[in-house]
Amino acid sequence: MKKKPKIIITPKKVEGQVNSSEMSGSKIPKKELALDRNISNNIVKLKKIMSDNKLLVSGLTFIFLSLFLVLSNYNKSNNHNTSDQKELPSADGVDIKEPPKEVPPSKSENLDLSELLAVAQKREGYRQNIKVLDSITSIKTLLQKERIPKRMLNELVYLAQENNIDILKKGKTWYTIKSKAADESTEKFYIYEESPSQYFVINGQPKPEIKSITKEVHIKIKSIAGVIKTSLWDAVRDSDGDDRVVGRMEEALKWVVDFYHVAPNDKFKIIYEEEWVDDKMVGVAKLLAVTFYTNNKIYDAYYYKDEKIEGYFNRMGQSMKKKFLKSPVKYNKITSAYNPERVHPVLGDKRPHLGTDFFANKADPIFAVGDGTVTAATFKKNNGNYVKIKHDNIYQTQYLHIMENGFAEGIKVGAKVKQGQVIGYAGQTGLATGVHVCFRFWKNGAQVDPLKEEAVQSDVPTQLDKESFQERKDSLLLQMDEIPFFDLSF
Ligand SMILES: [Zn+2]
Repeated sequence: MKKKPKIIITPKKVEGQVNSSEMSGSKIPKKELALDRNISNNIVKLKKIMSDNKLLVSGLTFIFLSLFLVLSNYNKSNNHNTSDQKELPSADGVDIKEPPKEVPPSKSENLDLSELLAVAQKREGYRQNIKVLDSITSIKTLLQKERIPKRMLNELVYLAQENNIDILKKGKTWYTIKSKAADESTEKFYIYEESPSQYFVINGQPKPEIKSITKEVHIKIKSIAGVIKTSLWDAVRDSDGDDRVVGRMEEALKWVVDFYHVAPNDKFKIIYEEEWVDDKMVGVAKLLAVTFYTNNKIYDAYYYKDEKIEGYFNRMGQSMKKKFLKSPVKYNKITSAYNPERVHPVLGDKRPHLGTDFFANKADPIFAVGDGTVTAATFKKNNGNYVKIKHDNIYQTQYLHIMENGFAEGIKVGAKVKQGQVIGYAGQTGLATGVHVCFRFWKNGAQVDPLKEEAVQSDVPTQLDKESFQERKDSLLLQMDEIPFFDLSF
């Protein structure tokens, strides 16, 4: 079962910041609200007259502008009242007899997103609508649906361009917060959340305004230890770790640990960086160190970076990265090994199988096992769609039965590829009984068994500053030793 991350919202009192309880204690005199409404009613009437009688337009524009100035002055004085009066009750013991009138949260400065939303949620008469954008969307399209006045819309779109948010990204969140009272003066504002540390508050009233709010991201170091009972994911969650760390762990150890075959009783310890915004954990940054116990062996990796080098190294200071990946697909599951004596499953006669067949589902990505240059990306009767890569003067690799139209973008003769780059998608083209990847490993022009090839296991040579690495590793190792396995009995 997936544990939901705990979100703790603790409103902080910072100067110039208004929290919800203070805001609900402030008030706007009824008289002024009524006046506001009168003015907006008058504007509506004026607009109608203006469209009916063009001769009156110039004269009325003057009156309209004057009214607009009056309106904005009222809004300013409203703001003044709010900030003055919120000090009153506690300072002078003045009793407020009228029930406090709420100030729309849009007028509060520098509130956290979570606080803004909490305010809107608690506030009677306000409701919020949360939309996760399912495609790239222009802010204009979103605002047009809100039927806000055209001039206001144009100004907001202009401000959005200035803030570089006129085009909103897919997967980001758009909040609409509005009063339930559906009259002309409906109070509305919007929030665009670009990331947990960056969001924009968009107001139409009292004047079009977009406020960019940037939060600082803090790094906290987290250490966890776990024992696998069912899956690695569950074990990480059970030890109060974040799911996202699983991928980082695989990335660091993929050359030495086969994560598709981890088993119950396998153990791990991890030190990683968490990203925090205020009181909320928002992400996982770097994995700093990992120890993994599997198959009666211990594997460990330490993150190290200096001006020349960045990556994971074992405790001897050898790079975790090998010249070739163990498998060209994510499952390291061999369905038919290299076998020069094999009887062919389709043709029935004795034909050597000079490839290694890896299990794959249709359309699974196929990875280049090492850096190199594509020397073939074409179709042949038996091979089906296939790719061949030259890695150096000794080694070449070949990937067969790629699905129909299944070459990855840019994969053609002469293309340079990096280790782990997707070159195509698994299929069953050519002579194949089912979906799989037939992987062929060439050494000096002859096919050999990659599992017996030393080059597959050899480290990539690195120029590591041994002394500096040693220091870093020792400190991480010390922290690692302090992490207890909290649950060894099951
Ligand atoms: Zn094969």
